[in-house]
Amino acid sequence: MHYIIYFDICAIFILLIILLAIMVRKRTKGRNNSLMLSLILLTLLATLGDLGFAILSNSTTHLIDNRFLLYLSFSLYFLALNMILPIFIFFIYTSIGVWHVFKQKQHLTLIWTALSGVPFLAVLLNPIGLWVFHINPDYSVSFGPFVYLFHAVAFAFLVWSVLTLINYRKTVRMDKMVILTFLFPLVIASVLIQTFNQAFRIEMFGISIALMTFMITIQSSENLIDPQVGAKKYSAGINDILNIINTKKPSTLLLVKIVNHNNILMYLGQEVNDRYLRMLSQKMQEYAAKNRYDADLYYLEYGLFGFLSSDDDRKSAAKVAEEIRKYLEVSHKVDDFDVLADPRICIIRNPDDFDDFQSMLIFATSFHKTLPDTKSIMYYADYKDRSAFKVRNDLDEIISNAISNDRFQMYYQPIYSTVEKRFVSAEALIRLNDREYGFISPTLFIPLAEKTGSIHAIGDWVLRDVFRFMSENNLNELGLKYIEINLSASQCIEPDLVDRIEYLLELYNLMPEQVSLELTETAADIDPEIVDRNVKKLHNMGIRFALDDYGTGYSNIRRVVSLPIDQVKLDKSFVEKIDDPQMWTVIEDTISMLKEMGKEVLIEGVETEEVAKRFLELPCDLFQGCEYIQGFYFCKPLPEDEFLSFIRDHDKSKIES
Ligand code: C2E
Ligand code: MG
Ligand code: MG
Repeated sequence: MHYIIYFDICAIFILLIILLAIMVRKRTKGRNNSLMLSLILLTLLATLGDLGFAILSNSTTHLIDNRFLLYLSFSLYFLALNMILPIFIFFIYTSIGVWHVFKQKQHLTLIWTALSGVPFLAVLLNPIGLWVFHINPDYSVSFGPFVYLFHAVAFAFLVWSVLTLINYRKTVRMDKMVILTFLFPLVIASVLIQTFNQAFRIEMFGISIALMTFMITIQSSENLIDPQVGAKKYSAGINDILNIINTKKPSTLLLVKIVNHNNILMYLGQEVNDRYLRMLSQKMQEYAAKNRYDADLYYLEYGLFGFLSSDDDRKSAAKVAEEIRKYLEVSHKVDDFDVLADPRICIIRNPDDFDDFQSMLIFATSFHKTLPDTKSIMYYADYKDRSAFKVRNDLDEIISNAISNDRFQMYYQPIYSTVEKRFVSAEALIRLNDREYGFISPTLFIPLAEKTGSIHAIGDWVLRDVFRFMSENNLNELGLKYIEINLSASQCIEPDLVDRIEYLLELYNLMPEQVSLELTETAADIDPEIVDRNVKKLHNMGIRFALDDYGTGYSNIRRVVSLPIDQVKLDKSFVEKIDDPQMWTVIEDTISMLKEMGKEVLIEGVETEEVAKRFLELPCDLFQGCEYIQGFYFCKPLPEDEFLSFIRDHDKSKIES
């Protein structure tokens, strides 16, 4: 028989190129990569054996009796070929992230050992009885009765692979699934062709093409890595977190959030900040390697890094966390800048801590707000049963309950005019009164409602309730010119915001001048075009606008003042350090800048007489001073009735400065 060897030669070229690519890209670490490498090496060995055997068999001279060499070559080919599927099954388990399932189920290890061990023994013992194959006098090969055992084992491994893929189809990425499904028929076809036509040595070529396709499409995860930071991207993180949750894989998620990442970005600029993030990611990966923490690092955006381990390696996770904490305790030089990060570190354990992906993701992206404000390493498990944390964690459910069961209530905080020396308006502030947890602060639930989208329903409820309150009570008679209502960022970009407010004003028979809407700097920034359109239309109708929490954001002041804003509310952080003479200069300068832009100024968070006096004593005109003061010193936010009595009581006996 004359064997065709060209396919084997092509296969060797393909395999060598794949090997070269792996070495150049240093893709040899990790269980999945080393299994891929083993598959390639086994295929290469099988192909070399097959090629050696075919060349020896084809050679016409047979000067020396190379029957022994021929037997050895064929054995190498046959043994390596039959080890490919057992390794491939491992590869499937690691590649879809369920290696732990294989390890946990002992019967799988037993089946694997039996299925791969029997043929192995059969080849080793073949010289005794030549039951598997033998070399014919014409130097071709014929198979003995035991070869059916090999077919059966190969078939069993194939069924096993397919069943595993079907079983875990939900955890396998779609593209991975499609490619794996197409590679099966390709390999099976090449094996069948060769089985029925022994001269046509195409089998190894089929397998190497399959491996190459796999390497190019699936295994090449370059696009999953953020080149700027040198860690895996957010999208890869989401995919892998989903995977560990679905498969209940024992692992740790070590989160490092740089809380002041926004300030650092402003300070360094984009380019240097990228270098800083790269430096951090390198350092973190160094610590992981040093502590043998087998985990991938992800950059989950907004200063959040996450290590996801491939084992339940809690000790190493803790060691790495501690080293990162220590490293970030001091400032580090990036180019010529000294940068001091403000980190929060938390460790989550899977599958103990979370049952579903959504809650784990919400926690991971907001743990720096929901857990206590501490720089020591936190474990989710230590907090999940504490009530303060439970509120934060169950907020989603609490909010939707509150919406359906009407558990919200509006409070009103009077605003004092330094010019008229009386209360002239009030800010409406929402309160959530939960049956189980009592009052929950809006600083907690408003940001979450923004994330989940329930802010639209809440915002709508607020507008209706405040308008109802205003229409039921003649506030003008009480000397109140308008009520200030907070608009959240996502409300500002609602396309029907203007129509709805117009409709509600008509419904409750109110004048637009009785309403002032508070925007935040972020709102002004998210979608400038829609915000511009909404704000300008509402302002043209006669509604007033105030800019809330001025001094806490980073938006462009020119952008902010391009909006028709009547009043700027200086954030309470200004008054917190009022004793510092430099801070007082900042306040005075900020006020005069705002005055120059034609804005009225309100100071928030005035808690003491001493602070109130400083502002009351400040001359107030078109160039200096602030027109309004709001704070606990005058009055805390009050429920409707108490608020009305407070205003009635204080209206006549105007407060003297
Ligand atoms: P904000 O709009 O800046 O409201 C002022 C916050 O400061 C209120 O907190 C108020 O109770 C508090 N405050 C007033 N005077 C003082 C003081 O002298 N000292 C201190 N330390 N705090 C003072 P509150 O009611 O907890 O509201 C927090 C934030 O929640 C609000 O900040 C606002 O951003 C948001 N919010 C409240 N109600 C609503 C609402 O109806 N809709 C939306 N979208 N957001 C709301
Ligand atoms: Mg406000
Ligand atoms: Mg404010």
